[in-house]
Amino acid sequence: MSWPQRFIAPPEFAPRSPVVAGCTACGACCSAPDIHALQKPLGVPCAHLGSGCLCAVYATRPAVCRNYQPDWVCGEVAPLPTLEARIQRFLEIYGLEAEAGALERRSDTAG
Ligand code: SF4
Ligand code: SF4
Repeated sequence: MSWPQRFIAPPEFAPRSPVVAGCTACGACCSAPDIHALQKPLGVPCAHLGSGCLCAVYATRPAVCRNYQPDWVCGEVAPLPTLEARIQRFLEIYGLEAEAGALERRSDTAG
């Protein structure tokens, strides 16, 4: 079977782990992006993300989660040791750290 194109990292991202070619349940994509369907803000783990970074509502998860496909970004984030580190790397890759930081500061001020 040929290597799926989506697992080929762009040249500016030296692959951290060429062995990650599928979901290893690292939790990054359930935590880093904002997910409108779940009203989940950027950089915050989904409320349904359970222990071991497994989805607690897997059977009824929304279409956006069902349709998400692992890609080369998994190789960048999944090998990192903590969920926090994986979230940060995911945000960095998509250039979203500043936006996530601003949201965090806003919620700190509101709280
Ligand atoms: S970022 Fe990739 S490896 Fe991590 S949970 Fe999402 S699909 Fe799976
Ligand atoms: S609903 Fe489940 S699969 Fe979707 S973001 Fe939340 S934890 Fe992840």
